[in-house]
Amino acid sequence: MTSLSAYLSHMLRAEWIRSFFLVKTKPLTKPAYFMDYPIDTGKRCTHCFSCMMICPVPDAISVLMVGETEGEDIWKPVLYQGHCIRCGLCVEICPERVLASGDIIERVRQDSTYMQSTFHILVNEGKCAGCGTCSIACPVNKEIDPILASKGTTTSDEVIMRVKAGVMRVLHEEKCTGCKTCVLHCSYQAMDVARVIECLQYESDDETSATNEGG
Ligand code: SF4
Ligand code: SF4
Ligand code: SF4
Repeated sequence: MTSLSAYLSHMLRAEWIRSFFLVKTKPLTKPAYFMDYPIDTGKRCTHCFSCMMICPVPDAISVLMVGETEGEDIWKPVLYQGHCIRCGLCVEICPERVLASGDIIERVRQDSTYMQSTFHILVNEGKCAGCGTCSIACPVNKEIDPILASKGTTTSDEVIMRVKAGVMRVLHEEKCTGCKTCVLHCSYQAMDVARVIECLQYESDDETSATNEGG
């Protein structure tokens, strides 16, 4: 009985009742380092498609799609959250800072890092028939050598790849834009183009420009 009255007298204190009914918890706030779904900052998208190409989700097109508003020449990345794994890679690679999530951009700026992507052309020699269809289909090759565009043959060593002595040779991988037209045109499934992503640090001399670029 004594313990019950002690309990009641403790619970019925005005201070306790006031704090019970008027208690306020702090509103939930996300920490800056929380990697959320990417959001559109509204900056101008130059439709370089880097964000789509770096997205590691299989069938990335189902996650992130850069499209044009009909007739307005305004491009925008549209995100479908259901498949996004919130890795933040698209935020980090976008050169125009169109996408944002937490403090990724700020951290990239502080660390003076940037991402660079190149393409690696793989020709499976066991499958390649040396027909040269990939070389003729390549839009970059056609620009480099107008004869290739008109006659379907080239002797230029400035093109990305061409058949030499009956064998497909990759001569200038660094000129590849990763469009995969060659892959689509090869009847022998002998070709593949892989994107190689590197995270690099600006040299100290470049740091000022990196900070300026970050805006
Ligand atoms: S955060 Fe990652 S998974 Fe999500 S859209 Fe960007 S690159 Fe793809
Ligand atoms: S959002 Fe950025 S990375 Fe994606 S297409 Fe636009 S400019 Fe390129
Ligand atoms: S991916 Fe495109 S640019 Fe690169 S070699 Fe193939 S067709 Fe040419």
